Amino acid sequence: MGKKVTYQCDKCDYSAHISGGRDVGMIVKTNTYVCYICKEIVDVITEYWTDVTPDESAIGKCPKCNSSENLKEWDNKKCPCPKCNGTMKDSPETEITMWD
Ligand SMILES: [Zn+2]
Ligand SMILES: [Zn+2]
Repeated sequence: MGKKVTYQCDKCDYSAHISGGRDVGMIVKTNTYVCYICKEIVDVITEYWTDVTPDESAIGKCPKCNSSENLKEWDNKKCPCPKCNGTMKDSPETEITMWD
């Protein structure tokens, strides 16, 4: 099952509800990327588990702007904020969403 947690920047008010790294759901594998167009941290579908790929066009793209050009794997050790270069911290208090 995939799960997401909320990361909150320690300098600005940006927060992101993301997996924070490689994650595996029932039908998809995702990884967490930074989109330089949106300046957002996003979970990107990297692979489908199923034999039949339901929507191949969704693989490897930012779910917000639908572009694959400006994605870079998010460094989940340093956890940089895409807005201000602060540090994103995951807060264990926040709800964890099971996304499938
Ligand atoms: Zn920030
Ligand atoms: Zn984007």
